[in-house]
Amino acid sequence: MESITRKAYAKINLSLDVTGKLPNGYHTVRMLMDSITLYDDVTLTPNTSRCITLSCDRSYIPTDDRNLAVRAAKLFFAETKIDCAGLHIDLVKRIPAAAGLAGGSTDAAAVLKGLDQMYGTRFSLEKLCKMGVQLGADIPYCLCGGTMLAEGIGEKLTPIPAPPQAHIVLCKPDFSVSTPDVYAKMNGGNLPVHPDTAGLVAALRMGDYNGLCHRLYNVMENVIAQKHEEIGHIKDVLFSCGAEGAVMSGSGPTTFGLFRREEAAKAAYEALRREFTETYLTAFQV
Ligand code: ATP
Repeated sequence: MESITRKAYAKINLSLDVTGKLPNGYHTVRMLMDSITLYDDVTLTPNTSRCITLSCDRSYIPTDDRNLAVRAAKLFFAETKIDCAGLHIDLVKRIPAAAGLAGGSTDAAAVLKGLDQMYGTRFSLEKLCKMGVQLGADIPYCLCGGTMLAEGIGEKLTPIPAPPQAHIVLCKPDFSVSTPDVYAKMNGGNLPVHPDTAGLVAALRMGDYNGLCHRLYNVMENVIAQKHEEIGHIKDVLFSCGAEGAVMSGSGPTTFGLFRREEAAKAAYEALRREFTETYLTAFQV
């Protein structure tokens, strides 16, 4: 069997709402997500080592069972009962980690799709999603990609028309956020302000770029921004350079701006890159 390399795309949240808390402790969410052109390379190479091993070009990423890509491979072989003679997974990481961009989940999704291709199991997307959700609520979205309304714990997906194309400047300030800590502050979804999800969906259906930009909203942003002034600062720079909208993605801290004009996006990229090394100029993945 030959090696397979797959692109694992990052996601951003155009909105994020926490709507409740289940008896098992999981929070329910309602969020609009989109894939962007920033991606990791995930290469799967079968061998005869009788082990599943992983290498990665970033030393801070775990290479053992803590890595979601390894766990996805183990899950695939356990579920299919295929005898794994050995597999090596190599990750070329471009997506910042612990950033609200689903970096680990998208690698896991790429492993599930890659192994499905390699072993000819030809599972439906639905079946792969059922497998993936056992490892993480964002994995079904990463398997599907595109513009989706995600509800439930994030696994109930409804396709929505893609946003009008825009230049996206993405900036991850130099601190990490603990996702469970942020959820703990969400008061079980009993929050004073929620995103206008219906308005956002309507704006996307109408191709209304301004309507989209005005409704970008993440209920977790204030919690993080109160403790870390970088979020507000990044948004100030994005808006002062001409962004039509800006918001934090996921549980943060990556914050992005949408721009119609390429020159404005480039100016924001240059300005933020001087302060934050993890700054990217990207676009929606179509
Ligand atoms: P989400 O948006 O789903 O909350 P995230 O972007 O905040 O995801 P990840 O990039 O998935 O977070 O990383 C969270 C932690 O998961 C990291 O600190 C890292 O140690 C661990 N991890 C496990 N597997 C991976 C992987 N393949 N790539 C990156 N991080 C991984």
